Amino acid sequence: MTLSSPGIAQIPQILIVEDEPAIADTLCYSLRSEGYAPEWVATGEAALNAVGIDTALVILDVGLPDLSGFEVCRRLRARPDSPPVMFLTAHSEEIDRVLGFEIGADDYVLKPFSPRELVARVRVILRRHGNGNTTSKAATETLQLDEAGARVKWCGLPLPLTRFEYLLLRHLMGQPGRVFSREQLLDAVWGNERDSTDRTVDTHIKTLRAKLRAASPEADPILTHRGMGYSLQP
Ligand code: CA
Repeated sequence: MTLSSPGIAQIPQILIVEDEPAIADTLCYSLRSEGYAPEWVATGEAALNAVGIDTALVILDVGLPDLSGFEVCRRLRARPDSPPVMFLTAHSEEIDRVLGFEIGADDYVLKPFSPRELVARVRVILRRHGNGNTTSKAATETLQLDEAGARVKWCGLPLPLTRFEYLLLRHLMGQPGRVFSREQLLDAVWGNERDSTDRTVDTHIKTLRAKLRAASPEADPILTHRGMGYSLQP
């Protein structure tokens, strides 16, 4: 595993939107000690003003004193370059809404949370959005297509893929960096055999990612493009 040289990678800016100072303090401390640059605001309006082009992630409390976290997320999503959003919620019954189509958050963390777990999940989201502060080798260097053997090797070892996982990964590898919509992937990979929905693509991406991670814990070469689809890291 290669680590990025310090000073070269840009430090990801993370906006914390949380009205309880004690929680915000804990979060700022944990994120800073992991090399991120956290900024804290306590209201929804302040969050909408603070999110900028450098914001790599918003950690958003649902219960804020002015706007609800849901409303803040909705307004952020209306912007062209809306950053990923991770919700903090105290109520497990809000989770379906948080992750559902209406809000469409990237992840959530239930309060009370372990800062360590939260930071781990921040890392995953940032990496998925091509913004991690750990640089893995370019995917094309470490993924090798063996068409004759109908398999893909990761760091020299064959991945244990199902047929559709193999076909999906092969398709993404055909044009690294290109974003494919779920529809395009369904057509290309499932073709006539599709009795399936967009969920089919998501499910296979999920198992592919899990298998890549099992082969190498830092491996996450597949990027999610919100509202658009997936690509392989160029
Ligand atoms: Ca709150």
